[in-house]
Amino acid sequence: MKTLVLIGGGHSHAIVLRWLGLQPLADVRLILISDVTHAPYSGMLPGYLAGFYSFADCHIDLRTLAKFAQAELVLDAAIGLDLQTNQVFCRQHHPIDFDWLSIDIGSTPATINIPGAQEYGIAAKPVPQFLAAWQRFIAQKFDRAISLGIVGGGAGGVELALTLQIQLQQLCPAGAAVHLFHRQPELMNSYANAVRRRFTEVLIDRGIKLYLNEVVESISLSSDQTCPQVAPDALKLVRCQSGLSIPCDQVIWVTQAAAPSWIRQSGLSTDEQGFILIKNTLQSLSHPHIFATGDIATMPEHPRPKAGVFAVRQGQPLFANLQRIITGQSLPPFLPQQRYLSLIGTGDRQAIGTWGNFCTRPSKLLWWWKERIDRIFMSQFPNSDSL
Ligand SMILES: Cc1cc2nc3c(=O)[nH]c(=O)nc-3n(C[C@H](O)[C@H](O)[C@H](O)COP(=O)(O)OP(=O)(O)OC[C@H]3O[C@@H](n4cnc5c(N)ncnc54)[C@H](O)[C@@H]3O)c2cc1C
Repeated sequence: MKTLVLIGGGHSHAIVLRWLGLQPLADVRLILISDVTHAPYSGMLPGYLAGFYSFADCHIDLRTLAKFAQAELVLDAAIGLDLQTNQVFCRQHHPIDFDWLSIDIGSTPATINIPGAQEYGIAAKPVPQFLAAWQRFIAQKFDRAISLGIVGGGAGGVELALTLQIQLQQLCPAGAAVHLFHRQPELMNSYANAVRRRFTEVLIDRGIKLYLNEVVESISLSSDQTCPQVAPDALKLVRCQSGLSIPCDQVIWVTQAAAPSWIRQSGLSTDEQGFILIKNTLQSLSHPHIFATGDIATMPEHPRPKAGVFAVRQGQPLFANLQRIITGQSLPPFLPQQRYLSLIGTGDRQAIGTWGNFCTRPSKLLWWWKERIDRIFMSQFPNSDSL
């Protein structure tokens, strides 16, 4: 019997597993390797942080989904590939043989080698670690004004700044300041001008402090005596190359997406950042029996931002092409949409809608619509009660 191995329970693989449950592949052993039991759905993550959703609302239970798809679930992290022998190496599990492989493991913020970044900052990904660190931070009793630093002004950083500001203001009656650091002159570089302008306006209106063209070069503990009411070691100092230096109680990294080094080391063709280069059939450029989707993949013919919406869109075509390669058929190309609707929450049960260069104002109706779309997306996955 031949074996199809899926690494990572990202958005595309969740959809593939659902399809495999509905249309099982005959005589194929199916293995899912995942380092988590519950995969977060990115579209609802900011709403979860804002307290609008429960954990179950915005996490896909991979144990139930694997059971539905009749896949063996290996709860472990993949850490390498042998492309000569077609094996996946895991942190603990013995090597796993495959005939076909699909990789959907997302990305992590490029935390760069900045002094203090690891010790004194939290990376927004992996999401479970981020959520745990954030819960620990907000579990403290805040009897003084606090400040949060967010490094990275892409869509994720902007959405987090808007969401966490509201949460902190509720938790901390003495006041909460949010500082957003971005190395480029404008926020949200992959979006159209109108979208960038609208979000900049909203952030400024909401009193979020923007530091554009600022490159963070270190984070250290501060003994800032200008804040006498604060225990000296409670504050971190975010220093920028320009000399700017801002005290923050917590710092979150939402910088440019990065790929784990084992991907490049495995010998798969990658781009300069180490993401797997794929054809428009979602197959690796160098190894056609290996597929990749979501953030970890780069399609040079049709480059798109690293966003959950693309990982979702690739799910059904990935299932179709896996089915076709296994049954010896030719693979049709997948052409991602050029323009797409994006509904981005502003943390206050409102959302801004964007379509190409068109951008709305924050609207409660658009939040309602976004919530509906996201809940419909999540409702397609079986939960433990439904099996
Ligand atoms: C704060 C924040 C907010 C965001 N908000 C949005 C949004 O509103 N809309 C949007 O479209 N995008 C958003 N994004 C981007 C979005 O999170 C990603 O683009 C999306 O999650 C990518 O999906 P994926 O399927 O590639 O991988 P992921 O969703 O990251 O899933 C990868 C899975 O693989 C697992 N995994 C990783 N490594 C291994 C390994 N070695 N072995 C086994 N398993 C592994 C992970 O645990 C995870 O479950 C946001 C990002 C951040 C940081």
